[in-house]
Amino acid sequence: MRTKLVAGNWKMHGSLATNLGLLHAVRDGVKGPAEVAVCVPYPYLAQARAVLDGSGVAWGAQDVSEHAQGAWTGEVSAAMLADFGCRYALVGHSERRSFFGDTDAVVAAKFAAALKAGLTPVLCVGESLAEREAGVTGEVVTRQIDAVLANSGVAAFANAVVAYEPVWAIGTGRTASPAQAQEVHALIRARFARDSADVAAGLRILYGGSVKANNAAELFGQIDIDGGLIGGASLVAADFLAICSAA
Ligand code: 13P
Repeated sequence: MRTKLVAGNWKMHGSLATNLGLLHAVRDGVKGPAEVAVCVPYPYLAQARAVLDGSGVAWGAQDVSEHAQGAWTGEVSAAMLADFGCRYALVGHSERRSFFGDTDAVVAAKFAAALKAGLTPVLCVGESLAEREAGVTGEVVTRQIDAVLANSGVAAFANAVVAYEPVWAIGTGRTASPAQAQEVHALIRARFARDSADVAAGLRILYGGSVKANNAAELFGQIDIDGGLIGGASLVAADFLAICSAA
């Protein structure tokens, strides 16, 4: 019932030259039932659109401004992303939260801005290693989600995606075990079910954090894992395509 989604998050990698090969390989290599997207750096959105337009692969951005327009030097609005054909915008990635000061309130505002422009926000949540070891994973993830629910309401999540990315698993090669991930995904879905059973049942919850070709199938086989948000492995076409095929 929920179509799986595999989204690449290229982070701050790539060039016009290297992207070209990667975009073509992904566009031409994707097959299977899962939906596929790539979230590229802002300057390469036009290139992504040029290669992917009309294909089955969607594209998106890695962040978005909470502001609609105006004197916000360096910011990129949701309307601008929509102008470039983006379907998705990540909001609240842990790298934005920890290195760029995106608070729960800022993330909630970015989520609302993306939705308003017709984009599908991908709300990223996840606990740090210290938080997991302190046994507060559920509280942290719930707090991050509640900030957005309080601002946008549960119905907004009919047009949104959630990505659970434990910070300790990002770029570390240390993946959450399928059971560890499933436990948090179930908790997230249960949180939404408290507000709307329908929204909870339809909500795609992606797992992110060291997803590779050799662990994707087992992760994606969990009942509440609806695909993945892929960092490093999304930069290598063969790896990314293998992960897409596993979904
Ligand atoms: P890695 O797949 O490189 O661990 O990155 C995960 C991530 O942060 C995706 O948003």
